[in-house]
Amino acid sequence: MKIITTLAVVDPDKCSGCKTCYAICPVLAIRMENRKAVIDEGHCFGCNNCEQRCPEYAITMVSRSEPRVVEIHVNRFHPDAILDLCISAKFHPEQVVCFCTGTRAGEIAAAIMDGAKTPEEVSLKTGARTGCKVLCIAPILRLLYAAGITPQKPDGIQWCGNTPTLWDISAETMAKYASHGFCFDLDKNFLEANLAYELGKGENCKCQKRP
Ligand code: SF4
Ligand code: SF4
Repeated sequence: MKIITTLAVVDPDKCSGCKTCYAICPVLAIRMENRKAVIDEGHCFGCNNCEQRCPEYAITMVSRSEPRVVEIHVNRFHPDAILDLCISAKFHPEQVVCFCTGTRAGEIAAAIMDGAKTPEEVSLKTGARTGCKVLCIAPILRLLYAAGITPQKPDGIQWCGNTPTLWDISAETMAKYASHGFCFDLDKNFLEANLAYELGKGENCKCQKRP
Protein backbone atom coordinates (compact mmCIF):
# COMPACT_ATOMS: atom_id res chain seq x y z
CA MET A 1 0.00 0.00 0.00
CA LYS A 2 1.24 3.47 -0.78
CA ILE A 3 -0.13 6.92 -0.05
CA ILE A 4 1.19 9.18 -2.79
CA THR A 5 1.56 12.75 -1.61
CA THR A 6 3.89 14.23 -4.24
CA LEU A 7 4.33 14.30 -7.99
CA ALA A 8 7.20 15.17 -10.28
CA VAL A 9 7.12 18.29 -12.45
CA VAL A 10 9.54 19.02 -15.32
CA ASP A 11 10.87 22.45 -16.20
CA PRO A 12 11.05 22.18 -20.01
CA ASP A 13 13.47 25.10 -20.20
CA LYS A 14 16.03 23.10 -18.21
CA CYS A 15 15.37 19.67 -19.77
CA SER A 16 18.09 18.63 -22.22
CA GLY A 17 16.19 15.57 -23.45
CA CYS A 18 18.73 13.06 -22.08
CA LYS A 19 15.95 10.50 -21.34
CA THR A 20 17.42 9.45 -17.97
CA CYS A 21 14.11 10.05 -16.21
CA TYR A 22 12.21 8.21 -18.96
CA ALA A 23 14.52 5.21 -18.53
CA ILE A 24 14.27 5.03 -14.73
CA CYS A 25 10.58 5.62 -13.93
CA PRO A 26 9.24 2.42 -12.28
CA VAL A 27 5.67 2.96 -13.51
CA LEU A 28 6.50 4.28 -17.00
CA ALA A 29 4.88 7.63 -16.27
CA ILE A 30 7.33 9.63 -18.39
CA ARG A 31 7.33 10.00 -22.17
CA MET A 32 9.49 12.10 -24.45
CA GLU A 33 7.89 14.71 -26.69
CA ASN A 34 9.95 16.96 -28.96
CA ARG A 35 13.05 15.88 -27.01
CA LYS A 36 11.55 17.01 -23.71
CA ALA A 37 10.39 14.85 -20.79
CA VAL A 38 6.65 14.93 -20.14
CA ILE A 39 5.24 13.42 -16.95
CA ASP A 40 1.76 11.96 -16.71
CA GLU A 41 0.73 13.56 -13.42
CA GLY A 42 -2.08 11.12 -12.75
CA HIS A 43 0.33 8.24 -13.19
CA CYS A 44 3.27 9.56 -11.10
CA PHE A 45 3.87 7.61 -7.87
CA GLY A 46 6.05 10.33 -6.34
CA CYS A 47 9.06 8.06 -5.94
CA ASN A 48 11.69 10.78 -6.60
CA ASN A 49 13.81 8.51 -8.80
CA CYS A 50 13.63 10.87 -11.77
CA GLU A 51 14.20 13.97 -9.65
CA GLN A 52 17.28 12.46 -8.02
CA ARG A 53 18.88 11.43 -11.30
CA CYS A 54 18.15 14.36 -13.60
CA PRO A 55 21.56 15.80 -14.56
CA GLU A 56 20.03 19.20 -15.33
CA TYR A 57 18.06 19.54 -12.07
CA ALA A 58 15.03 20.02 -14.28
CA ILE A 59 12.62 18.00 -12.12
CA THR A 60 10.97 19.18 -8.91
CA MET A 61 8.76 17.20 -6.54
CA VAL A 62 5.62 19.11 -5.55
CA SER A 63 2.79 18.29 -3.17
CA ARG A 64 -0.37 16.78 -4.59
CA SER A 65 -3.55 18.70 -3.83
CA GLU A 66 -5.13 15.38 -2.79
CA PRO A 67 -3.14 12.30 -1.66
CA ARG A 68 -3.65 9.23 -3.80
CA VAL A 69 -3.94 5.81 -2.18
CA VAL A 70 -2.78 2.69 -4.02
CA GLU A 71 -3.55 -0.67 -2.42
CA ILE A 72 -4.76 -4.13 -3.22
CA HIS A 73 -7.03 -6.07 -0.88
CA VAL A 74 -5.59 -9.54 -0.44
CA ASN A 75 -8.90 -10.84 0.89
CA ARG A 76 -10.42 -10.50 -2.60
CA PHE A 77 -8.58 -13.72 -3.42
CA HIS A 78 -8.76 -17.19 -1.92
CA PRO A 79 -6.15 -17.47 0.84
CA ASP A 80 -5.05 -20.90 -0.37
CA ALA A 81 -4.27 -19.49 -3.82
CA ILE A 82 -2.26 -16.64 -2.30
CA LEU A 83 -0.46 -19.14 -0.09
CA ASP A 84 0.31 -21.53 -2.94
CA LEU A 85 1.85 -18.80 -5.08
CA CYS A 86 3.91 -17.44 -2.18
CA ILE A 87 5.17 -20.89 -1.22
CA SER A 88 6.10 -21.59 -4.86
CA ALA A 89 8.30 -18.48 -4.73
CA LYS A 90 9.61 -19.45 -1.25
CA PHE A 91 7.96 -16.57 0.58
CA HIS A 92 5.72 -16.34 3.62
CA PRO A 93 2.65 -14.32 2.54
CA GLU A 94 3.20 -11.89 5.43
CA GLN A 95 6.86 -11.36 4.56
CA VAL A 96 7.63 -7.74 3.67
CA VAL A 97 9.30 -7.67 0.26
CA CYS A 98 9.26 -3.92 -0.45
CA PHE A 99 10.66 -2.14 2.57
CA CYS A 100 10.03 1.39 1.26
CA THR A 101 6.27 0.81 1.07
CA GLY A 102 5.88 -2.08 3.53
CA THR A 103 4.33 -4.26 0.83
CA ARG A 104 4.07 -7.97 1.68
CA ALA A 105 4.54 -11.01 -0.55
CA GLY A 106 0.82 -11.79 -0.29
CA GLU A 107 -0.03 -8.38 -1.80
CA ILE A 108 2.32 -9.02 -4.74
CA ALA A 109 0.69 -12.44 -5.20
CA ALA A 110 -2.75 -10.79 -5.13
CA ALA A 111 -1.66 -8.28 -7.78
CA ILE A 112 -0.46 -11.11 -10.02
CA MET A 113 -3.73 -12.96 -9.51
CA ASP A 114 -5.47 -9.67 -10.38
CA GLY A 115 -3.75 -9.71 -13.77
CA ALA A 116 -0.38 -7.99 -13.27
CA LYS A 117 2.13 -9.49 -15.69
CA THR A 118 5.12 -7.18 -15.23
CA PRO A 119 6.89 -5.45 -12.33
CA GLU A 120 5.41 -2.18 -13.60
CA GLU A 121 1.87 -3.55 -13.38
CA VAL A 122 2.60 -4.96 -9.92
CA SER A 123 3.72 -1.46 -8.87
CA LEU A 124 0.57 0.13 -10.27
CA LYS A 125 -1.65 -2.27 -8.31
CA THR A 126 0.29 -2.33 -5.00
CA GLY A 127 2.59 0.71 -4.81
CA ALA A 128 5.55 -1.63 -4.30
CA ARG A 129 8.83 -0.77 -6.04
CA THR A 130 8.14 2.97 -5.95
CA GLY A 131 10.76 3.84 -3.36
CA CYS A 132 14.42 2.88 -3.63
CA LYS A 133 13.55 0.28 -6.33
CA VAL A 134 16.59 -1.77 -5.33
CA LEU A 135 15.58 -4.60 -3.00
CA CYS A 136 12.06 -5.37 -4.20
CA ILE A 137 12.62 -6.27 -7.84
CA ALA A 138 14.02 -9.75 -7.11
CA PRO A 139 11.06 -10.88 -4.96
CA ILE A 140 8.58 -9.44 -7.46
CA LEU A 141 10.29 -11.31 -10.31
CA ARG A 142 10.37 -14.49 -8.22
CA LEU A 143 6.62 -14.29 -7.65
CA LEU A 144 5.96 -13.56 -11.34
CA TYR A 145 8.14 -16.50 -12.38
CA ALA A 146 6.40 -18.73 -9.84
CA ALA A 147 3.11 -17.77 -11.53
CA GLY A 148 4.57 -18.86 -14.88
CA ILE A 149 5.11 -15.29 -16.13
CA THR A 150 8.41 -14.12 -17.64
CA PRO A 151 8.11 -10.36 -18.11
CA GLN A 152 10.02 -8.49 -20.77
CA LYS A 153 12.22 -5.72 -19.46
CA PRO A 154 11.15 -2.26 -20.66
CA ASP A 155 13.44 -0.12 -22.78
CA GLY A 156 15.39 1.40 -19.91
CA ILE A 157 16.98 0.81 -16.51
CA GLN A 158 13.76 0.40 -14.55
CA TRP A 159 14.96 -2.92 -13.13
CA CYS A 160 17.84 -5.34 -13.16
CA GLY A 161 17.47 -9.09 -13.53
CA ASN A 162 16.53 -11.58 -10.89
CA THR A 163 18.94 -12.36 -8.06
CA PRO A 164 19.82 -16.07 -7.81
CA THR A 165 18.75 -17.74 -4.60
CA LEU A 166 19.53 -21.08 -2.99
CA TRP A 167 16.83 -22.65 -5.13
CA ASP A 168 18.63 -21.66 -8.32
CA ILE A 169 21.88 -23.43 -7.47
CA SER A 170 22.33 -26.66 -9.40
CA ALA A 171 23.02 -29.96 -7.64
CA GLU A 172 26.34 -30.06 -9.44
CA THR A 173 27.40 -26.67 -8.03
CA MET A 174 26.19 -27.62 -4.55
CA ALA A 175 28.27 -30.80 -4.66
CA LYS A 176 31.29 -28.91 -5.96
CA TYR A 177 31.29 -26.39 -3.14
CA ALA A 178 30.34 -28.81 -0.37
CA SER A 179 34.00 -29.75 -0.02
CA HIS A 180 34.81 -26.05 0.56
CA GLY A 181 32.53 -25.87 3.58
CA PHE A 182 29.38 -24.56 1.88
CA CYS A 183 26.18 -26.25 3.05
CA PHE A 184 23.68 -25.03 0.48
CA ASP A 185 21.49 -28.11 0.76
CA LEU A 186 21.28 -27.85 4.56
CA ASP A 187 20.49 -24.14 4.33
CA LYS A 188 17.77 -24.84 1.77
CA ASN A 189 16.21 -27.61 3.86
CA PHE A 190 16.34 -25.40 6.94
CA LEU A 191 14.60 -22.49 5.20
CA GLU A 192 11.94 -24.73 3.67
CA ALA A 193 11.27 -26.44 7.02
CA ASN A 194 11.11 -23.07 8.75
CA LEU A 195 8.66 -21.69 6.18
CA ALA A 196 6.48 -24.80 6.52
CA TYR A 197 6.54 -24.46 10.31
CA GLU A 198 5.66 -20.75 10.21
CA LEU A 199 2.71 -21.61 7.96
CA GLY A 200 1.59 -24.37 10.31
CA LYS A 201 2.35 -26.98 7.67
CA GLY A 202 5.34 -28.69 9.26
CA GLU A 203 6.99 -29.69 12.46
CA ASN A 204 9.06 -27.30 14.48
CA CYS A 205 12.31 -27.23 12.58
CA LYS A 206 15.53 -27.78 14.38
CA CYS A 207 18.76 -26.20 13.29
CA GLN A 208 20.73 -28.83 11.50
CA LYS A 209 24.22 -29.28 12.69
CA ARG A 210 26.75 -28.40 10.05
CA PRO A 211 29.35 -31.06 9.32
S1 SF4 B 1 16.51 13.49 -16.77
FE1 SF4 B 1 16.19 15.70 -16.74
S2 SF4 B 1 17.27 16.48 -18.52
FE2 SF4 B 1 17.06 14.28 -18.81
S3 SF4 B 1 15.16 14.07 -20.01
FE3 SF4 B 1 14.58 13.91 -17.84
S4 SF4 B 1 14.02 16.01 -17.22
FE4 SF4 B 1 15.16 16.14 -19.16
S1 SF4 C 1 10.23 8.32 -11.53
FE1 SF4 C 1 8.87 8.38 -9.75
S2 SF4 C 1 8.59 10.57 -9.31
FE2 SF4 C 1 9.41 10.41 -11.41
S3 SF4 C 1 7.57 10.37 -12.73
FE3 SF4 C 1 8.11 8.24 -12.30
S4 SF4 C 1 6.85 7.71 -10.49
FE4 SF4 C 1 6.89 9.97 -10.64
